[in-house]
Amino acid sequence: MRKKDRLLFGFLLAMACNSFYGQQRSEKPNIIFIMSDDHAAHAISAYNGIYKDVAPTPNIDRLANEGMLMTNTFCTNSICGPSRASILTGKYSHKNGFYKNVGGDPFDGGQQTFPKVLQQNGYTTAVVGKWHLWSEPTGLDYYKYHVLNEEQGSYWDPVYNENGKEVQEKGYATNLTGKFALEWLDTKRDPSKPFMLMFQFKAPHRPWYPDEKYKNVFDGIDMPYPETFNDDYKTRERTAGKSMMSIENHLTNKDLKITPPEGLSSEAYKKWLRLGDKGEYVSPSDTLTGMALKQWKYQTYIKDYLACIRSVDDNVGKLLKYLDDNDLTKNTIVIYTADQGFYLGDHGWYDKRFMYEESLRMPFVIRYPEKIKAGSQNDDINLNIDFAPTILDLASAKTPKDMQGKSFAKSLTKQNDNCAREAMYYHYYEYPKWHNVQPHYGIRTERYKLIHFYYDIDVWELYDLENDPNELSNLYGKEDKKELVKKLKKKLYKLQKESGDDVSLETMRSETRKGMVHY
Ligand code: CA
Repeated sequence: MRKKDRLLFGFLLAMACNSFYGQQRSEKPNIIFIMSDDHAAHAISAYNGIYKDVAPTPNIDRLANEGMLMTNTFCTNSICGPSRASILTGKYSHKNGFYKNVGGDPFDGGQQTFPKVLQQNGYTTAVVGKWHLWSEPTGLDYYKYHVLNEEQGSYWDPVYNENGKEVQEKGYATNLTGKFALEWLDTKRDPSKPFMLMFQFKAPHRPWYPDEKYKNVFDGIDMPYPETFNDDYKTRERTAGKSMMSIENHLTNKDLKITPPEGLSSEAYKKWLRLGDKGEYVSPSDTLTGMALKQWKYQTYIKDYLACIRSVDDNVGKLLKYLDDNDLTKNTIVIYTADQGFYLGDHGWYDKRFMYEESLRMPFVIRYPEKIKAGSQNDDINLNIDFAPTILDLASAKTPKDMQGKSFAKSLTKQNDNCAREAMYYHYYEYPKWHNVQPHYGIRTERYKLIHFYYDIDVWELYDLENDPNELSNLYGKEDKKELVKKLKKKLYKLQKESGDDVSLETMRSETRKGMVHY
């Protein structure tokens, strides 16, 4: 076929495809965006982590089996509120203005978000569960989100804000959020429109209170230990070594559910619950010390964390069943993710914040039977700022120009395998509370990671993820790595420039200083 004929043929084929889709798909897809809080990918059995046999997640795995598992989805600022703001806006923290949980400004809900664009495109929208952005949700027809405890909500008898009105509920937060999500789908939404539901669990966030039903589910089981459980932070003493989030020294009486001594006044009890935060010695008995104590703390922590996830997985299952029973499975996109990753004893830690793999990586599973091949996997680098453009793209809505992320919809539907990012940019600000993690920015490519900790130290770290996937050996400063560092810095500064974060260190520090809270 000659070039001109080929073009004509292609045009006719495209027309045919369009009219085919026009006839067959009069409905836009529904979207359910499930997000839990602090659920690390390596705590989902589909990701094949060390807990896969002992603490499986069959319902999230079902999504992966019937859809796609993404293995290199990363957040751009590994902490609750900022990641949520980036997901909504498709922008980095320095563009959407939500830098930190502690001391920062409330989220500016006047700005562009993906729920707003969906609303403008005929969708009915809702959020149920955790919001954590300190301003009323916008672009959402219905909302029922956790208030109190710094917007973390409570595991038991939580108070929600339902479209502007505070409602005291009775029961376990994860099950309640699950119930309210189904209620909205079943009776509260406008059935004449396609829907988008943000279904957001507060679990498994600290202090990890499982439902009564699962409180003792792991009794008698010895949970496996991560490879880096006894990390000594050699080559990273001034960064990793200075953080205050270790299993050994920074879990509190409350975290560990230790029985309080008798006769404490209410004030003294509150103080006692917090002991451990600043490294105070905490133990359930006089005889439990040293490594045995550290291991006991880990077992207690990880069992509670995984037991909280049991309830999350149950409620994902109920939702999937609802979709099946109501003939909604085929035309509904279901995403499962978390606001960031988490340390599950990795490097001896709990919590997040660092640009190291376990807290940088977000789980991301997506099912869309009409377009995504069941049981597929994608290893491209994607970011939380890409979620908004991707969702809009899948809904055939136009992405606003000021969104910084880019759609990875085509790599999901295999229309284009070559739209992956070559590298990603990261920037974390909150310091010193909580957990004393120095502000840092950095670049991650497929193989390397370069990080600059800059607040009141000037420390660079370089990791070779191929030879050192656990990031134990900081190679920065090694003679044979100088050329590599030069190249990576060039790429890093390019990403800073492109994203509009090419500002002075002093400007970066001023965001950390705003409303700073000390230990
Ligand atoms: Ca979180």
